[in-house]
Amino acid sequence: MKIAVAGTGYVGLVTGVCLAEHGYFVSCVDIDENKVKLMQSGISPIYEQGLEELMVSNMEKLNFTTNYKEAYRSADVIFIGVGTPEKQDGSADLSSVYSVALQIAQSIEKDCVVVIKSTVPIGTNDKIEKFIKTNLTNNVNVYVASNPEFLAQGTAVRDTLHSSRIVIGVEEEIAGNILTQVYKGFGAPILVTNRRSAEMIKYASNDFLALKISFVNEIANLCEIIGANIDDVTEGMGYDQRIGDKFLNSGIGYGGSCFPKDTKALHWLGNFHDYELKTIRATIDVNENQKVKLIKKSRKYFNNLSGLTVAILGLTFKPGTDDLREAPSLVNIPLMLEDGANIKAWDPVGVNNFKKIYPNEITYCDTIEDTLIDADICFIFTEWKEVKDFDISKYGKLMKTPVILDGRNCYDLKHVKKTNIIYDSIGRESISNLEFVNV
Ligand code: NAD
Repeated sequence: MKIAVAGTGYVGLVTGVCLAEHGYFVSCVDIDENKVKLMQSGISPIYEQGLEELMVSNMEKLNFTTNYKEAYRSADVIFIGVGTPEKQDGSADLSSVYSVALQIAQSIEKDCVVVIKSTVPIGTNDKIEKFIKTNLTNNVNVYVASNPEFLAQGTAVRDTLHSSRIVIGVEEEIAGNILTQVYKGFGAPILVTNRRSAEMIKYASNDFLALKISFVNEIANLCEIIGANIDDVTEGMGYDQRIGDKFLNSGIGYGGSCFPKDTKALHWLGNFHDYELKTIRATIDVNENQKVKLIKKSRKYFNNLSGLTVAILGLTFKPGTDDLREAPSLVNIPLMLEDGANIKAWDPVGVNNFKKIYPNEITYCDTIEDTLIDADICFIFTEWKEVKDFDISKYGKLMKTPVILDGRNCYDLKHVKKTNIIYDSIGRESISNLEFVNV
């Protein structure tokens, strides 16, 4: 079976590499020549744990190309994994999906299954099938199938090789059979349903996870006011198997390339059909507010950040990825710069991408220690392991004024209480072992 994958981002490249690991010959297509050149030389253009190694070890089964015609012409199955970013009005921008669909229609010379892995609004698979059929240049059969992706950045390779489930949305049995065959060796439960249900499963799953985060963040905010501890509260909740103990971490909100746009897209779709999803609206609103929670907290300690040295630990939207899309750092750092802060930042893998946005305005440091030296205040935006493992007593020794605002609850309050710092986190008591005057 010949497979092609359109798009070599977090979804496309991981899918292509994992299919090659399962023995398939895969042509990975991208329009970005630089990315393709990197991959041809055995370098992954994105950071995902284990991805580059797996790619290199399957190089003889992988072909990286910009020549879509060659890749699609004789493929039995073509996966589409291109981006579907958010438009100004919150709806999904499907232009890349349509452009691949046109390329497919004009290239294929044999019957094939076109599989939409990109997250697309309910009804898109139907439209894409019609669109391809209308634009076909050869007399072939095309079946469009929905196969939403559930991987999480940071654990993408593991999530794909050991997926929780494989959802296949089809209208014809033949497409379902071919895709079931493709995934036979993956060992995950396979759910075959119709295309609209498959599309909805993806949105409902992502939006439910986002809802869980916003719910916990609201509870955390109230915990702060009434003197409860969110870590204990969520631990107590998590013992109930109906609730589960995953995804109950409070913080400065969700980011990334999926939850923000997928909540807005589903909310938009509901409104379009005159049915407002009120829980999703609340999820979005709570998250917007949560992203700036640390800046608001900083006003307790400094009237503004003008002239202060601000240490930032973590730039990416979560640990394990170099992706900055919708990261809280990108909301907070412009506000700090506007305030006149001198920013020093550390991130183990996100710095190169951040430098593309802020090449000169920020001092990038190689170590956490260097970042903290002489800082007036420290903001923790990402719960990297290096931050969690960092000796909390060092903040007091390295910083000019050890005010630490932890947006990811990286430290145990028992340990914080033994140090000489000011420490404010999310949903827990703030600790002030220092005499400090608001300046
Ligand atoms: P991405 O932005 O990382 O990658 C998209 C790639 O597609 C880019 O390399 C781009 O150059 C390429 N591309 C654009 N037009 C093309 C064309 N005509 N032909 C070939 N390549 C083309 O995107 P991503 O994060 O991998 O997300 C892809 C889709 O999967 C989105 O719909 C997203 O919502 C969904 N998804 C993402 C994740 C995630 O964690 N990133 C998880 C599940 C689902």
